[in-house]
Amino acid sequence: MRTVDEHLTEILGSVAALPPLDLALLEAQGTVLAEPVTAPVPLPPFDNSAMDGYAVVAADIAGATEAEPVALPVVGDIVAGDPGVSAIRTGLTARIMTGAPLPAGADAVIPVEWTDGGAATVRISRPAPAGNYIRRSGEDVLAGQTVVEAGTRLGATQIGMAAAVGRSHVVVRPKPRVVVVSTGDELQEPGTQLAPGQIWESNSYMLTAAVVEAGGMGFRQATVHDEPAKVMEMLEDQLVRADAIITSGGVSMGTRDVVKEVLSGTGTVRFHKVRMRPGKPQGFGLLEGTPVFTLPGNPVSAYVSFQVFVRPALRAMQGLPPEPMPTVSAVLAEDVRSPAGLRHFLRGRLSSNRGHYTVTPAETQGSHQLGSLAMANALIALPEDTEALPAGSHVDVMRLP
Ligand code: AMP
Ligand code: MG
Repeated sequence: MRTVDEHLTEILGSVAALPPLDLALLEAQGTVLAEPVTAPVPLPPFDNSAMDGYAVVAADIAGATEAEPVALPVVGDIVAGDPGVSAIRTGLTARIMTGAPLPAGADAVIPVEWTDGGAATVRISRPAPAGNYIRRSGEDVLAGQTVVEAGTRLGATQIGMAAAVGRSHVVVRPKPRVVVVSTGDELQEPGTQLAPGQIWESNSYMLTAAVVEAGGMGFRQATVHDEPAKVMEMLEDQLVRADAIITSGGVSMGTRDVVKEVLSGTGTVRFHKVRMRPGKPQGFGLLEGTPVFTLPGNPVSAYVSFQVFVRPALRAMQGLPPEPMPTVSAVLAEDVRSPAGLRHFLRGRLSSNRGHYTVTPAETQGSHQLGSLAMANALIALPEDTEALPAGSHVDVMRLP
């Protein structure tokens, strides 16, 4: 028997960050930036108008009122995209559109709403301070400034920011390609009829979705029967395209535990009993350099094992800190018991009231009982040395994605 921490340490010691890749911006969505993105020029790159209106010398209209508007001749039209070579001087104005470069000599923009909208001569009925409705060069981002830090997962706003500083490509850690495959003669595809003794296969769907939630690309494979030759054949087929492989089932002590049977022979994938509940039987190792996680078949065991062992590894492959799921301290709403010597992960419902968390353990905690897992939003992690805790105790709670 080994502890959860020992098993995780071995796993994290064996996986490495994927090599960085130069990707087109939209291909990089959801990946983790491997370089800082910096601005080569200030943003905005030039002083420009924040409104549709008139560029003026503010002093010229200092006395403007509704009753006595100031009339100025309009010497030109400046639209967004103009190269910015225009100029005015005192006593003149130019019509200007939002985003158009401020003409030399102007120090304020008067919105069209404060004028009669004249094309040859405009009457301005309100004064404005210097700087009015001008967006200054660099007021958003300075030249040389880092706008997205390395290690950031790229979402819509970061992708927009990268484009805004002129980047068409970014260097990122690609999403790990993770192949997920279930084993078991009893498993039937969802959407088909069950024969006696069969159940619908759920783990590969759940784990593929969990891979995606952890930032990877999940590739679900068809279920493999409990035949050693088929399991080996599947693994060999998948190794060429996978950054990691997850199997479910076939790793405990039964007579049809083929994953264990087949992979024990490789010498590099090893099987352990880990001091945890659920999820005691675990296997991990490298197959031709590719990490292989062999998770137990009971659905809740498979899921908890994923969150405890696979998710941190997938984070490491993305160049992220291999942290556990975000954990909060919560007050137990009910008494709990826990097996001595095992880290116990209990499904529960976490709720918060003004920053104070309470967690209620689910009534059913069997490792086959997916029903209570699907209703849970958290896993309560009870340490190995805990055997019982009364309601009101503080516990660590991992929030499920
Ligand atoms: P095993 O680890 O293969 O001995 O399976 C343990 C239990 O989990 C058995 O009750 C299996 O029927 C069930 N099980 C295994 N794999 C799956 C799966 N992919 N989907 C749903 N249940 C499974
Ligand atoms: Mg099985």
